[in-house]
Amino acid sequence: MKTIYVDNNATTRVAPEVVEEMSPYFSELYGNPSSMHFFGGQVHTKVEEARERVASLIGARPQEIIFTSCGTESDNTAIMSALESNPEKRHVVTTRVEHPAVKNLVAPLKREGYRVTELPVDRDGLLSMDEVSRVITEDTAIVSVMWANNETGILFPVEEIANVAKGRGAIFHTDAVQAVGKIPINLAESQIDMLSLSGHKLHAPKGIGVIYVRRGTRFSPYIVGGHQEEGRRGGTENVPYIIGLGKACELAANHLEDMNVRVKGLRDKLENGLLEKIPNSIVNGDRDQRLPSTSSISFEYVEGESILLKLSDKGICASSGSACTSGSLEPSHVLRAMGVPFTAAHGSIRFSLSSYNTEEEVDFILKVMPPIIEELRAISPFWDGSVARSCTAS
Ligand code: PLP
Repeated sequence: MKTIYVDNNATTRVAPEVVEEMSPYFSELYGNPSSMHFFGGQVHTKVEEARERVASLIGARPQEIIFTSCGTESDNTAIMSALESNPEKRHVVTTRVEHPAVKNLVAPLKREGYRVTELPVDRDGLLSMDEVSRVITEDTAIVSVMWANNETGILFPVEEIANVAKGRGAIFHTDAVQAVGKIPINLAESQIDMLSLSGHKLHAPKGIGVIYVRRGTRFSPYIVGGHQEEGRRGGTENVPYIIGLGKACELAANHLEDMNVRVKGLRDKLENGLLEKIPNSIVNGDRDQRLPSTSSISFEYVEGESILLKLSDKGICASSGSACTSGSLEPSHVLRAMGVPFTAAHGSIRFSLSSYNTEEEVDFILKVMPPIIEELRAISPFWDGSVARSCTAS
């Protein structure tokens, strides 16, 4: 059975070019980049080349790039650094749809006396700029707003929000884990102070991330240890992965057009085809302000997990908008924040494509999905022929 992988917001295939670039740095060129000898020196040079490649993809200066272990560490670092560097400020602004790497870090801050504002989103998953402007005050230490949502692909106007934050003297951070490599980013022309990215979302390995810190931003290290990364992140550098990430960033820059033209075309074909062939299917979120690669679709009156299992039987890997917590299937916090009705949130599926996907794969999904939904609706207590029976959320 052929694997059709359309779960690229969960993780991506490591590009063969990335593997090739990394491989000498395991057992041939294994020196420590901090060592004084030539053997460490050549590794140091390669790490700095990777830093330049990462910086180039996002319009940053190499000195503004700090390597971390993952996107989660980068998000945690940004927020904790802003709080530590501005102890007099006791307010944090974020959104209701952040990834747990931000959401679960800021929630306990309330117990430590911080005021935490989680901005709401509307039915299309969008933020109100009036609301953004209203909540940020002189007491705000950090505003952390994701660039692209991992479930819906919705893009937030982070450059505009950064301007508002700057005007009030707050640090602005964006979790750009899902955005980097998919949309053009030029930090040189923005007021963004900090940005997080993660290797495994752009065809580098899992376990490597970056935090960008704009020159001049007050910064306090989160992982304390040796003098690595100019004293901004302790721990011997994960050399092969850093080198792999550098290569992946170079490839991503070359693939940006493919992503925004061909892959976007495939996503649209898939989405429009499913909406046309399957009644009571709805796209979650605004269809314009979105990543080119992501589609979240709710198939009303069926359970997302059942759809996923049936797709999996056909070799198709996607994901759902529910999280199985303590045995009960809870719709995701993102869909709940958007006010997606219970009957739709439960049947939501996320398709996330990459440059490796093909038109044949999309055609195959379009062929197998309608009978899967039909079969599941036939056994759904809430589905009555082509007209759904009313169902209220519990
Ligand atoms: N932020 C977003 C938006 C993500 O989608 C993810 C991963 O799914 C993360 C942060 C965490 O990244 P990592 O898996 O590298 O820790």
